[in-house]
Formats: sequence, structure tokens, C-alpha cells
Amino acid sequence: MKRACVIGWPVEHSRSPLIHRYWLDLYGVEGAYEKEAVPPEEIKVFLRSLGVRGYAGANVTLPHKETALALADAADAAAKAIGAANTLWFDEQGRLHASNTDAYGFMTHLSEEAPDWNRGGRPVVVLGAGGAARAVLHGLLAGGAAKVLIANRSQHRAEALAKVSGPSVSVVPWSEKGKALAGCGLLINATSLGMTGKPPLDIDLALLPADAVVADIVYSPLETRLLAAAKARGNLTVDGLGMLLHQAVPGFERWFGVRPKVTPALRAHIVKSLVGA
Ligand code: NDP
Repeated sequence: MKRACVIGWPVEHSRSPLIHRYWLDLYGVEGAYEKEAVPPEEIKVFLRSLGVRGYAGANVTLPHKETALALADAADAAAKAIGAANTLWFDEQGRLHASNTDAYGFMTHLSEEAPDWNRGGRPVVVLGAGGAARAVLHGLLAGGAAKVLIANRSQHRAEALAKVSGPSVSVVPWSEKGKALAGCGLLINATSLGMTGKPPLDIDLALLPADAVVADIVYSPLETRLLAAAKARGNLTVDGLGMLLHQAVPGFERWFGVRPKVTPALRAHIVKSLVGA
């Protein structure tokens, strides 16, 4: 029986087991997907013994994504560019491969919900400069975004990200994020603001064009205050759950040999777990 897991600290909140166990049942795969709570001081030893523990691979979540990339024998272009890995698997020679599927997950969902998100190359505004924002930015640039403006509370992190991203990425001060919306075609919240238990995202949407798309990568709650406000003024909105579902696809295929589908039934299954979370 093939086994995979999600490794994090904490890991209890992870929805990955729900997604992968749903697919294991649906496709009749004899496999298992477990949660592994591993503290930072034990992560190197744990990852080095992943195969001995009987795992075909793993998802990796906070705070271990950078260590996972560093310890893998090989990494794909996305993981290298983002500087973090969220998916690991062994090849036939036993070499550990690292990938980052967050950019794939975000862009796949965005392209499904808003196929013309690029809006003729109008600027994209990204809020945040953490790990998820790095993945979103990588996806946007690979997907053809011509101009991206990043705003982050700690401006030096936005500047560091812009510096390694090339001339199409520039920084706007966090206090000016509302002004940056004038003329943009897409606004993305890639901070943790708006998540259950965190402060809401405070942004004035007055200058946001009526045809701009608004995406949030926060998925708990499913409809954040940002998305509700955007929807109320007629903007097309894209929630964060699709990213979570799509980022899981490549890992499942690597470990269990079936390319799974993201369907409305899977979405409904996970939404049930978010209610009251
Ligand atoms: P990080 O800790 O790496 O980054 C957090 C980001 O949020 C930083 O930009 C940080 O700014 C900003 N932030 C946090 N608190 C505040 C605040 N009070 N005011 C202003 N900015 C703030 O986390 P990740 O990038 O990994 O994750 C961010 C969010 O994305 C989380 O909510 C996570 O659940 C979600 N996520 C969703 C995924 C999905 O599949 N839908 C996948 C991955 C993440 P600063 O740099 O100034 O600290």
C-alpha cells in the first residue's frame, strides 16, 4: 500500500488529508494519507528518513517548506524560483524530488474562473510578500503578467521580492495600496489578513475598475470581507479554495499514479469542513 503525508508544525488545521482521502476513495486506490506533526528541530532527521518510514512522498507546510527544498536531491523550476517546496516524492532510484505546486494551483483556478484575467496587460496588484505571495508572483509572471505592483506591510520584503523578479515588478507602499488600484485589471490578497482569527484586510476599493478581477488566497472563511466587498460593487471574484484543491493534484498523481480531478463534489466536501471553522 502506498502512503503519503502532510508534514507541518502545527499540522492539525491542514485540509490536505480530506482532499487526498477523498480521491483515494473515489479512484479506489489502495493507499493512505496521514498527518505528521514535526517540530523544527526534528524536520531534517524526519525528511532524511521519509522513505524508511514507508512514505512515497509528502506535502510540506509551514514552517518547513524551505528546509524541504534544501534537503531534496532535485527540485523543479517552480520550487527553485519560489525558494520553497510543498510537494516531495521519490523517483525509482530513491532520489527525493521537490516541487512547489502553489503557483500551479493558484493559476489553474484563476484561469478557470477568470480566463481573461490578464486584461490586455493591465497592472496586477499583489498584497503580501510572504511564501504564498512568492508563489502567486511566480505564477503570474510565468502566465504572462506584464506589470505587477506589490504592497506589503514590511516594505523591505516587497523590495527584496521585486529585486529578484525583474523589471516588470515594482513596489508600492502599504499605505498607498488603495491608490495603486487605479487602472489595475486584477487585485490579489496574498497576505493572511481576512483569515479566521486574523485582522481583516483594510483597503479602499473606490479606485478599483469595475471590470477588475479580485482574488483572495485566504479560504477560511470562503468569502472574505474583501471578496464580499468586491462582489457587492460588481467585480468578478475568485476565492482561495480552488488554489488549495488544485495544488494537491500533482502530488496525488506522483504518489498514487492517478491524475485526480478537482470537481464541484470535492469542493463541496471541503467546504463542509470550513463551515464553523
Ligand atoms: P507568510 O507568513 O509567509 O506571509 C504572511 C503575509 O501576510 C506577509 O506578507 C505579512 O506581511 C502579511 N501579514 C500578516 N499579518 C499582517 C498584518 N497584521 N498586517 C499586514 N500584513 C500582514 O504566510 P504565507 O504567505 O505562507 O500565507 C499567507 C496566507 O495565504 C495564509 O492565510 C495562508 O493560509 C494562505 N495560503 C493559502 C493557500 C491556498 O492554497 N489557498 C496556500 C498557501 C497559503 P509582513 O511581511 O509585513 O509580515
